[in-house]
Amino acid sequence: MKPKILLVNPPVYDFTAHDFWLKPYGLLEVAGFLRGRAEMKLFDYLDRTRMPATREKDKWGRGKYISEEIPKPPCLQEIRRRYQRFGLKREMFQKFITGNGPFDFVLIQTVMTYWYPGLKEVIEDIRHILPGAKIILGGIYATLCYTHATSLGADLIIRGTELSPLWQMLSIEPDIRQPAFWQGYWDLQTGTIRLSDGCPFSCSYCSVQSIYPAFTPRAQERCTHELDLMKSKNVQNIAFYDDALLHNPDICLMPFLQYVLSKQYKFNFHTPNALNARLITPELAGLMIKAGVKTFYLGFESMSEEWQKNTGNKVLNDDIIAAVNNLIKAGADTSNIFAYIIAGHPDHNIQKVRESMNFVHNLGINIMLSEYSPVPGTKDSTKCQNLTSIDEPLMHNKTAFTIRSLGESEVQQLKLLCKELNGRK
Ligand code: SF4
Repeated sequence: MKPKILLVNPPVYDFTAHDFWLKPYGLLEVAGFLRGRAEMKLFDYLDRTRMPATREKDKWGRGKYISEEIPKPPCLQEIRRRYQRFGLKREMFQKFITGNGPFDFVLIQTVMTYWYPGLKEVIEDIRHILPGAKIILGGIYATLCYTHATSLGADLIIRGTELSPLWQMLSIEPDIRQPAFWQGYWDLQTGTIRLSDGCPFSCSYCSVQSIYPAFTPRAQERCTHELDLMKSKNVQNIAFYDDALLHNPDICLMPFLQYVLSKQYKFNFHTPNALNARLITPELAGLMIKAGVKTFYLGFESMSEEWQKNTGNKVLNDDIIAAVNNLIKAGADTSNIFAYIIAGHPDHNIQKVRESMNFVHNLGINIMLSEYSPVPGTKDSTKCQNLTSIDEPLMHNKTAFTIRSLGESEVQQLKLLCKELNGRK
């Protein structure tokens, strides 16, 4: 008999959360490997198609989650923002597992390290309603905060991408050629995809190297199979989850986009994980636009050469100027080009945040302020210990850390400047 497995994407406890093409992709991929070998049900607390009150979406399929204000944890008391629980109601999950159980195994993942209270909530309900189920945790929190995760009461914690302990516990031989388990959703409007794992750079603020030790392209057949599956489910918007989407384009992105063109697929593709501007050649820009890439998020962070050098030189000012020119010449709409700038980084004194914002504005594109989170295991997180305790994942919260780093008034002023400059375009 096939084992019965429940897949759970937990609710989010945070000051802010928005559906920016967010899907529990790692969990869906693991479930994909189990296709035909287990009986599976998915409960995604962040599935907006099940949230009538916030079902409205923007033209690229993004939107708000339903939420309720909840008490702040003691370590975030001084942050003058509403702390909320985002996602479907707890009672819906309790009813779902009561009606669909029992399950032999429960697989849970979460992304941000400081979202672990959502995991705790799910584990409590499972232990209460499904006492016989084995609970397995995976994802970024479980990988980067392994010791902390052991306190939550799971039966197994998966670190990084080493999945053999999982297959052993399930007693299943996985089929790793299978695409992600998109059939878990009744109604799927946005999807995600990865053509590669890892990144050849090692920026001092980024955790990618702790999760994927090397850049590895994925098998094209599996990626195109996954695209066909999303097409059959009428998905309109797809976000690339690659960390280095433009690296080795001859074997990753270009053949994939050529496949899209050959099948005459009409998807809107998006790049929320940031593109490396240095790699946007005229040829690649042209192909991306022709195949349906609609939004371009460029990883920039700062125009300060000193800051760029200290953090790994992933991109220089000339790179971003050339990239924007190439995208515009290829026909990209400037209202859909964005450059990320970090706010609250521990070296903000040399980062020239305001000048960086003006630099981006003068290129005729949009600024995306991204609040810094001190990710454990990164070089830059060791510079944050005077402001926060890295051992407590709630203290990695990006809203809280940025306020602690810059002060409330400076954060407000930067947000206002961003709004003003983007509004002036
Ligand atoms: S280029 Fe991007 S993904 Fe790669 S290490 Fe730097 S920040 Fe991380």
